[in-house]
Amino acid sequence: MKEFKRSSNAYKKAVDLMPGGVNSPVRAFTSVEMDPIFMEKGSGSKLYDVDGNEYIDYVLSFGPLILGHADEKVTESLKQVTANGTSFGAPTEIENQLAELVKERVPSIEMLRMVNSGTEATMSALRVARGYTGRDKILKFEGNYHGHGDSLLIKAGSGVATLGLPDSPGVPESIAQNTITVPYNDLESVRYVFEEFGDDLAAVIIEPVSGNMGVVPPNEGFLQDLRQLTDDNGTVLIFDEVMTGFRVGYHSAQGHFGVTPDMTCLGKVIGGGLPVGAYGGKREIMERVAPVGDIYQAGTLSGNPLAMTAGYETISAMTKDAYATINRKVDRLIEGYQQAAEKHGVPLTVNRAGSMVGFFFADEPVTNFETANQSDLAMFTRYFQGMVQEGIYLPPSQFEGLFLSVKHSDEDIEKTIEAAEKVFSTIK
Ligand code: PMP
Repeated sequence: MKEFKRSSNAYKKAVDLMPGGVNSPVRAFTSVEMDPIFMEKGSGSKLYDVDGNEYIDYVLSFGPLILGHADEKVTESLKQVTANGTSFGAPTEIENQLAELVKERVPSIEMLRMVNSGTEATMSALRVARGYTGRDKILKFEGNYHGHGDSLLIKAGSGVATLGLPDSPGVPESIAQNTITVPYNDLESVRYVFEEFGDDLAAVIIEPVSGNMGVVPPNEGFLQDLRQLTDDNGTVLIFDEVMTGFRVGYHSAQGHFGVTPDMTCLGKVIGGGLPVGAYGGKREIMERVAPVGDIYQAGTLSGNPLAMTAGYETISAMTKDAYATINRKVDRLIEGYQQAAEKHGVPLTVNRAGSMVGFFFADEPVTNFETANQSDLAMFTRYFQGMVQEGIYLPPSQFEGLFLSVKHSDEDIEKTIEAAEKVFSTIK
């Protein structure tokens, strides 16, 4: 058994300092009934905790580290940039470079604004969509998580789902009543909402592949139908690609599915492990943002050279070949998991879009939040705890997907499959 002595001591101190001992809820391991593990360093696909235990990491800081931990090029560039100062409150050329690169990869973005997190990106995009349309209501999907902005913390996924929390106290009713929610992949309900509220709907916001109720891809044609309905009603279609952006594939989820939104939100990979988000879209919409337009949004550290450099080096390194390499690793991981599950009679449903993959302990297809919730959460907890002992660090919730990096080796994948097979033999 692994020892977690130093981790336990650090956790005892932390719970007195921060709610749950953490600075973001899912890190607390509440639903997997363990104390969180305090980490010391990462290198490539590996993480090392403060007690010296080594793990193959499938969390990757919840998505950003598509090049793995402490990538040589990213680290070297950061050292050089840091030596020249970390933030100027003035524009820099690296902001142009990253913006151009983003536009190249995600052509629906004609103009964008850098912010510091995914939450800021979605909050800002909503404000712009509301200002642009002059309408207040928005439509979101149950189990989709768009950060913790007031308008979006309603029937949300991720930690809200993991902790089984209802809609959050502190969100005024007057704000919540402008957010309409329907089940993911449920076109009938979307049509109904458009019939009732079409003229009042500023935006439809969606994770084009949901990654916050586990991984749930859109049904065939679902995104296309949303495009049609929003076009017909003068509603802004926002793809929240904070998780899928530069992850699902070279041109993100919108390229993968061939659907062009009006606005896109980005986060995670765009910062390569530093705090970055971005929102952007049609020029006509983005030109409403201050100082050219009348819709206000700002940020002291937005676009700082450190964050821009990490993002630029990370996305630049993600060539089409790099995506193909990750995809092959995902293919093998899925194959190995399916064989292991079959051998031990473990119910396993696999969802996947590009390199986004989710394993549910469920017999039936998982297409929305309700079906995701039918997974065997107690079995997930036993699986998670078993995998930690085998040196595999997974997202600590059935409602979070796995992430792979270009640094995950074939050997890492085989070790992970062997570990899963061993653990599957004990969790039924
Ligand atoms: N949107 C999506 C789809 C996300 O997955 C997340 C975070 N997991 C966010 C928004 C919020 O991003 P952040 O945590 O950077 O605020």
